[in-house]
Amino acid sequence: MNPKERIEQLQQDLTHYGELYYLEDAPVISDYEYDKLYRELVDLETAHPEYIVPTSPTQRVGSKIEGPFEKVVHGRPMLSLSNVFNADEVRTFHNRVVKDLDHTPTYVVELKIDGLAVNLHYENGILTRAVTRGDGRVGEDVTSNVKTIKSIPLMIKNAPEFIEIRGEAYMPHSEFQRINEEREEEGLPTFVNPRNAAAGSLRQQDPAITASRNLAFFAYAIGSEEGANIHSQEELLAQLKEYRFSVNPNYTVCKTIDEVIETIDLWNEKRHTLPYDTDGMVIKVNAFSDQEILGSTVKDPKWATAYKYPPEEVETIIKDITINV
Ligand code: NAD
Repeated sequence: MNPKERIEQLQQDLTHYGELYYLEDAPVISDYEYDKLYRELVDLETAHPEYIVPTSPTQRVGSKIEGPFEKVVHGRPMLSLSNVFNADEVRTFHNRVVKDLDHTPTYVVELKIDGLAVNLHYENGILTRAVTRGDGRVGEDVTSNVKTIKSIPLMIKNAPEFIEIRGEAYMPHSEFQRINEEREEEGLPTFVNPRNAAAGSLRQQDPAITASRNLAFFAYAIGSEEGANIHSQEELLAQLKEYRFSVNPNYTVCKTIDEVIETIDLWNEKRHTLPYDTDGMVIKVNAFSDQEILGSTVKDPKWATAYKYPPEEVETIIKDITINV
């Protein structure tokens, strides 16, 4: 297969996998396989930019949005994250950042929670709207459903006139297990993983169903705002706590790239003790002034990247047979 044919094939296949993943919550390949094919496409498109098309999965966030919910344009786009897979790639990311900034920044390294991003609008401190990330520019209004998530405040104190708060809605392991057991008993298909279960639960027509699924939320970003006086990711996380959002406490401020890599290594094992899924770590340049200098591509901010952990063998015991999946 020549490069043009392979690029077209990958563009087509990844679009198909993305639709199943984002629209139907029914992935047919693992995230690791998807990420490997995606990386192959990025490398081929970089070598042959003449074959990049605007509909390529590398040029868009998420997938088309086709749900029944009202469409809402985000005040600021909700971008994806570029991926790195090993320490060398973390250093390559860092070297590019240092080159573009002309100085070494401080980083904040956070857990990458495996759920789905939600954008919350607060007007004069009141939660008025909750929107899914959708295709990054336009999302779906899921306000009634999001209001059932107990860790999301319906009102925040001392807030600016308008602020978009962003974070991850996720399903804790205990809930995932409980719901799947119930579904099995009722003869319903079970959810593939907590992320798909969370996504399916948020896109329900009946908020009572979402409420019964006990989703949770970690806040980690802001979008558009009028009057928030925040200068760094570290300050932002402190402010979100102040607003009484649930903020994941497992973040580390790192002054060197060696510290970033040590933090990633530490969480490789430790993350399995957490009561929710993580699929990596997010490395963010701390100062907003540095973030602004670095800017973004159409798809990802250049001031952040996601370190994806390699997949592990999962032991499933079915009756007396142990299968490594
Ligand atoms: P992503 O999941 O790689 O990274 C971006 C997302 O990370 C953000 O939108 C946000 O929701 C989340 N996130 C979690 N914790 C965060 C934190 N602390 N700070 C910032 N963001 C945080 O990108 P994506 O565009 O959502 O999805 C692409 C990924 O989805 C692929 O890498 C692949 O693993 C998976 N995918 C899988 C299939 C499949 O068929 N298996 C198909 C499509 C996509």
